[in-house]
Amino acid sequence: MPWFRQFYLPLHPVVNTSSMITKYIFVTGGVTSSLGKGIIAASLAKLLQARGFKVTIQKFDPYINVDPGTLNPYEHGECYVTDDGAETDLDLGHYERFLNTPTSSANNVTTGKIYQTVINKERAGDYLGKTVQVIPHITDEIKRRMRLLEKEANYEIIITEIGGTVGDIESLPYLEAIRQIRRDLGSDHTLVIHLTLIPYLSAAKELKTKPTQHSVKELLQTGIQPDILVCRTEHSLSKEIREKLALFCNVEKEAVIEAIDAHTIYDVPILMLKEKLDKTVLRKLHLKHKNEPDLVLWKEFLGKLKNPTKEVDIALVGKYNELPDAYKSIYESFIHSGAINECKVKITPIHSETLEIDSIVSTLQQFDGILVAPGFGERGIFGKIEAVKLVRERKIPFFGICLGMQCAAVEFGKNVLKLKDAASTEVNPKTTNPVIHLMPDQLGITAKGGTMRLGAYKCRLAKGSLAHKIYGKQMIEERHRHRYEFNNDYLERFEQNGMLASGINPDTNLVEIIELTNHPFFIGVQFHPELKSTVENPHPLFVAFVKAALEYRKQKSS
Ligand code: GLN
Repeated sequence: MPWFRQFYLPLHPVVNTSSMITKYIFVTGGVTSSLGKGIIAASLAKLLQARGFKVTIQKFDPYINVDPGTLNPYEHGECYVTDDGAETDLDLGHYERFLNTPTSSANNVTTGKIYQTVINKERAGDYLGKTVQVIPHITDEIKRRMRLLEKEANYEIIITEIGGTVGDIESLPYLEAIRQIRRDLGSDHTLVIHLTLIPYLSAAKELKTKPTQHSVKELLQTGIQPDILVCRTEHSLSKEIREKLALFCNVEKEAVIEAIDAHTIYDVPILMLKEKLDKTVLRKLHLKHKNEPDLVLWKEFLGKLKNPTKEVDIALVGKYNELPDAYKSIYESFIHSGAINECKVKITPIHSETLEIDSIVSTLQQFDGILVAPGFGERGIFGKIEAVKLVRERKIPFFGICLGMQCAAVEFGKNVLKLKDAASTEVNPKTTNPVIHLMPDQLGITAKGGTMRLGAYKCRLAKGSLAHKIYGKQMIEERHRHRYEFNNDYLERFEQNGMLASGINPDTNLVEIIELTNHPFFIGVQFHPELKSTVENPHPLFVAFVKAALEYRKQKSS
């Protein structure tokens, strides 16, 4: 069997769960943020899934935004979109990439959402004159949302990651909700994993446990004794350190798990397996081991990832380059598609704002492929359009995503159709040639949160097109997040001159994919393929783009 498989097929047959009680695992963070709770949660979920359990992960974020859709990518990284159109935290991307199963709006909750629901109920008079308070009303709503997926999909295990760090004021209602759920369900059915940092003091040449002791104390003050400590560290934990942590933090020795810095996030499930995190979890939750974990495909992927036989250089032309998290799913998609091609994909971020007419050729021509990234607003547009011109003329493999596709349409309008002021109305509302314009259902919308075209939509591929060849089927479904679209008034002229609309939404006629017929690889997509690439099912467009870049590189060198 190939090591990649159809997206969204359950990895294991779903067991009969009628009499089952869902087990809850909560993951909290201590000492500092950015320790990788999402990766630890996803790795544990992967191991449990590989043992045959039906598992999902959800994230509760303590900030007050209703969702991260209104957050600047510099603040919080990429906004990840689910099939059902929820704008969510980027950790959901990790969950999907690791588990190869989709998440939904129920998998990401924020304080904003919780309060919105409670306040709406209060306005509707649902509380019957009671004083509405954090406890019990906010905590009840948190608990309701924490247990929502249990009813929806018969999960055997639900892992809940709590954003932020223990000790933050805004985390308190979540910790109180966990305390209550533990009281309600009992310790056989709930488990708390505390992810913490064991800093290394190089002057003393010592790993220090004190910050973790304090962090556990903080957790204890909320009534929660963690069951397992996962310890992020740059150096291996000695037996003594493990014993000390166990003693001072009141956990079993076996429940002190080392999470040493990994070469790639995809190593973490294997590291956790070695530390027996999954076995400890199952024992504590009184769950019988079903199988030994089936990680054949995962290990095959890792083998290919670590032993590439080829290399390509890809330029990522974008404007949020200072923070790689802003393009998280694109970077990860290249890891998946590179591995399947046994190819190391070197990505060089190029700031579109710094691309000037006289430097564009020298900056971009050495690359084997150019991806023009998604984005919003006018800043950096000129550089993106000029980059497209270069790749079109020099026949360098091109992949445009969302705004990148729109730039390709504008460039074609300007330079091939000679429509001098061709533009997207997002950038030039007064243009006489709006090749990209606002979708009719976006007219008049002023609110920013949750109002874009969001989530999965069908797309029919033109027979014989490059897109059709790549996907190997005619009907696909991809996720969207945009307000503007290709203007169909220009479609005939585009097609007559060699720019084919190879993907069309069958219900609305919106153009979803454009490709150049006289170019070896020039594809622009209005949707976000990067949101559906997983370890076990790398996205076909990324796989094909890497292949095209390899081909181009070979040609160049010969
Ligand atoms: N700004 C463009 C739009 O709203 C593209 C969005 C994107 O790249 N995600 O249509």
